[in-house]
Amino acid sequence: MSVPEKYKLKCDISIPERYKHHVLTNAEKPNIPACNVKTIPGDMTERGCAFAGSRGVVGGPIGDCIQIIHSPAGCAWYQWGTRRNLSAVYAWAGQDTLCNDSHNRRRAITTDLQEKDVVFGGMEKLEKTCFEAWRLIPGAAGILIYTTCTSGLIGDDCYSVARRVEKKIGRPVFVIDAPGFSGVSQSTGHHHFNVQFYDQMLEYRKKCPEVCMKKDEMGPYDIAIIGEFNMDWDLVYIKPLFEKLGCRIVSVFTGGERMENLLKIPDVKLNVLHCQRSCTYISKLIKEGFQVPYIDASFFGIEQTASALRGVADFFGSQKMKEKAEQIIEEEIRCITPAIDFYREKLTGKKVGMYVGGPRVWHWQRVMKELGMEVVFSMCTFAHEDDYEKINARSKNGLFVVDNPNEFEIEECLEKFKPDLFLTGLKEKYLCRKLGVPTVNSHSYEKGPYACFRGMVNFARDIYQGVYAPVWKFVNL
Ligand code: SF4
Repeated sequence: MSVPEKYKLKCDISIPERYKHHVLTNAEKPNIPACNVKTIPGDMTERGCAFAGSRGVVGGPIGDCIQIIHSPAGCAWYQWGTRRNLSAVYAWAGQDTLCNDSHNRRRAITTDLQEKDVVFGGMEKLEKTCFEAWRLIPGAAGILIYTTCTSGLIGDDCYSVARRVEKKIGRPVFVIDAPGFSGVSQSTGHHHFNVQFYDQMLEYRKKCPEVCMKKDEMGPYDIAIIGEFNMDWDLVYIKPLFEKLGCRIVSVFTGGERMENLLKIPDVKLNVLHCQRSCTYISKLIKEGFQVPYIDASFFGIEQTASALRGVADFFGSQKMKEKAEQIIEEEIRCITPAIDFYREKLTGKKVGMYVGGPRVWHWQRVMKELGMEVVFSMCTFAHEDDYEKINARSKNGLFVVDNPNEFEIEECLEKFKPDLFLTGLKEKYLCRKLGVPTVNSHSYEKGPYACFRGMVNFARDIYQGVYAPVWKFVNL
């Protein structure tokens, strides 16, 4: 359904195909924009490539593996110092080896493919790079090799290299084949990582059964948290809540996690799935392959975190756990209420625009309501139909939604809807700030964690500080 005339963005007159990507929400009869399709040539999208989704989002947060990009050096941008997916796994740095703190964010390892490698093949170079990295970081728990457009196009057999390296180093060496061109956005890379990691994990568990959890090591309330990337230490707030509930967190896919724990995910009793865009794939595969069920959860905001705790307690069916969940929720709410009341009072009635990847746009509709803020438009980079269904269900009717926006659309929406705050990423923040619109980094946060009850206070504080920063008084546009 096309949007009424008054919502038609003028900047799109020359690319009218963009109008299919704009809708107004309707909770009863969801309006789904054209989504998860190729960007129209000439439209300067803000999207990343499939490789960025596999390395930058899903694989990147793994804490103790060497991650090698088989690529020209340019693609390595996605490997260095980007998202603040932190990790405390430093233990394997040895004497006379590279210092390993924040390894997964600071090391950018690429084969640096050159023209001659494109002509003659880059497998030899890849093998050499694997051994060189292994020599510099010998305590690593494994190696992840990522292909990119160049290595994908020349058709290097990275799997045979991986098998040879694996044999020599005696640790898992997985290949994630997600060249940038293999999909319409980073979302394809999430999918590739999930499926390929699952397949290779399965193979490795068969080859080396000692990596699986033994029967007597298994606990009745073992869980894995899936699709949580430990942005700005989110896990510091998430883990204790589930531990207080009586669960044991065997693994997190993938925030700051060790390879040995990732290989044990199929041995848990329940997977708790937070990012339902990037990691539903592996949750479904584990459910089909190992009969381990999963439940959807959101760790953002008061109501959603409470419902995640109740969901896990309901799944296990233990009365004690259900009572514990209520006790935790009551205690946490009591603890954060004075701060949240303060911020709600300051923020009530403020207008907010949102531009995030996909799920956070629907995760945060409720969070904004909890702060008394009104969402005036929403945008998603790589959302699929099911994300837009949730956005329709959770938003006020008539919310203007844009799929895969470009910079001109962002600018026009900021001028049209005049939000007091724009929740967006790093790339877009400069445009917003030049237009005098405060932003909060919604990808890797300003000063997180933002997850769960206490994270909600940090989120509210950053929003408050953004909106009320004195600098905006000097903007005179
Ligand atoms: S689109 Fe291709 S060349 Fe560009 S960063 Fe992604 S993988 Fe590398």
